[in-house]
Amino acid sequence: MSASALLGNLAERGVRVRAIGSQLAVRPSAAVTPALSRRFRQHRVELIRLLDPEVSWRFDAMRPQIPTSPTAPIPMLVARPSTPSTDTHCASCGDRLPEPAVIGAGCCRPCVTAKRLLIEHAARRSTARSPRHERMRRSLTVVPIEPPNELQRTAGSN
Ligand SMILES: [Zn+2]
Repeated sequence: MSASALLGNLAERGVRVRAIGSQLAVRPSAAVTPALSRRFRQHRVELIRLLDPEVSWRFDAMRPQIPTSPTAPIPMLVARPSTPSTDTHCASCGDRLPEPAVIGAGCCRPCVTAKRLLIEHAARRSTARSPRHERMRRSLTVVPIEPPNELQRTAGSN
């Protein structure tokens, strides 16, 4: 099942999914079965891109900057090349920051999320290509992918 089919299927069953940064939030939480968690892990990047257009265009803009060689270092990824770096604007896309640089190297939240997803994506791709990376990956502590959160229930909803 594709990511969009999965979202359609969940919507039909009254399950709401939201992207919060690089995580997925689901309501009601009772809908989150182990099988659904597996699907979310499998399609996480695509689901976040479908749910968050601000992350999606940045992901597409930065993707070609990932070197084709799986062993080459990843450069600083930018959503809009030639964006001047200032304290008040994102160093990657140039959008005004909600407050002066605090998150990541002066990047806005959607840029940070897009970079995180791309680096994850690149790591997965390099392990698929190289047995040496696969051994390295196995020996490393895997960064946990948080289970989908339940959105805070607010008084009066449902
Ligand atoms: Zn940005």
